[in-house]
Amino acid sequence: MNLYDLTLTRALELLKNKELSAVELTQAHLDRSEGLQKLNAYITETPDRALADAKESDKRYADGTARVLEGIPIAHKDVFCTKGIPTTAASKILHNFIPPYESTVSQKLKDAGTTMLGKLNLDEFAMGSSCKTSAYGPAINPYKRDGDKTDLTPGGSSGGSVSAVSAGLIMGATATDTAGSIRLPASFCGIVGVKPTYGFASRYGCIPLASSMDHPGIIARTVKDSALLLKEIGGYDPKDSTSTPHKIPDFVANMTPSVKGLKVGLIKEADIKGLSPEIRDLLRTRAKELEAQGAEIIEISMPHIDYALAVYYVLCPAEASSNLARYDGVRYGHRTKDPKDLQELYVKSRAEGFGEEVKRRILVGTFVLSSSAYDAYFLKAAKVRQLIANDYKAAFEKVDVLLTPTTASPAFGLSEEMTPLEMYACDIFTVGANLAGVPAISVPAGFSSTGLPLGLHLQTNLFEEQKMFNVATVLESISNGTKKPSEII
Ligand code: GLN
Repeated sequence: MNLYDLTLTRALELLKNKELSAVELTQAHLDRSEGLQKLNAYITETPDRALADAKESDKRYADGTARVLEGIPIAHKDVFCTKGIPTTAASKILHNFIPPYESTVSQKLKDAGTTMLGKLNLDEFAMGSSCKTSAYGPAINPYKRDGDKTDLTPGGSSGGSVSAVSAGLIMGATATDTAGSIRLPASFCGIVGVKPTYGFASRYGCIPLASSMDHPGIIARTVKDSALLLKEIGGYDPKDSTSTPHKIPDFVANMTPSVKGLKVGLIKEADIKGLSPEIRDLLRTRAKELEAQGAEIIEISMPHIDYALAVYYVLCPAEASSNLARYDGVRYGHRTKDPKDLQELYVKSRAEGFGEEVKRRILVGTFVLSSSAYDAYFLKAAKVRQLIANDYKAAFEKVDVLLTPTTASPAFGLSEEMTPLEMYACDIFTVGANLAGVPAISVPAGFSSTGLPLGLHLQTNLFEEQKMFNVATVLESISNGTKKPSEII
């Protein structure tokens, strides 16, 4: 039995029963990571700290002070500031940044007893759907097409988080999702990705992309594991003005894995032309199976959802361009050598520090916020965003949960050329949940004819994470869509 194949839930049982030590568990994951460096999942590894944490966990198991996730090996997407440990957002502009403080999410997981193995790769500033915009080179999907050695994208932006969890380098990871960056890569790598309601988890200490759509969330291999982790990162945080006071249910204890009497909505507009036929079939098959388990399947229309991508790619650059204004080479981050004056210091530090996609977003963002374009683009997009949120509100008056594909195709090759617009289209099924702030999860639901994982996507109304997990558990159990790390690579 490979320790890195264990689910988080099972590992906790073994740790509690003292059939396994935290040091053994951590060492097994460190060895696995060492052997799979080619996945390029990490930007920074912290093995010494991990082993020290694991020793502390073993002490706590021995003296009866173990916390809920004591000794569980995890890692963080490299946008969560970790005190004293480099945090780069996969950008050259932050290559030398060592935060003097800890993000709320990473602090909460530390307080829950987890062991941190390092900081995970991503698209630069979480902009992308392939992990290819990382200044550290892309992470790689542990899956390959049957009989084909081509390296595939793990998806993005949380490519390192999903590659690491899927391949068994860690048992779970944090990530962020602004348009789909948790759910899309989870689908490409055959694991679970969950984005809670906006305001559920604090954004304090999380390097922003677009603040009104950024959601911290969780990557894990099973629905139950993801629920255990999500519970720990939630809660009101006075340090984040958009954090919402809310009760966090004990998702696992309250789990009622049944869809009897639930209304499952299929969105008419989600049946897009570019959807791969096998994903369309998978959706129909799983919907039928849910029906057989007592769910009612209802087709609904969300008339404004077609505009979601366009709205996002106006609002995101606008917010990103203002968030990125802080990187000026003065207080921290990359600074150009020997600038002749202050102007040149700003211009060259930013020109050298930011990658192409980041520059593209700054250009688009400052344009849509400029006085001549503001009404036509930014304001219009903000209004349509509200119409989309209204569509969700209306939908959840008719159904309990929305079921769509997570992605229109399985993972693509890392060397495949894509235009920025083709890359942006990857978020088609996921971006609506970010605009409306509703919780959503991608669940492994099957495999393509080429042997690649395919995910299906569930969305529920605001703060209905429990219902989402209940349905996700059923979907997971009828799907047989997950593999153990050792079966993948
Ligand atoms: N594809 C989206 C983008 O590039 C992903 C953003 C995200 O969810 N972090 O903006």
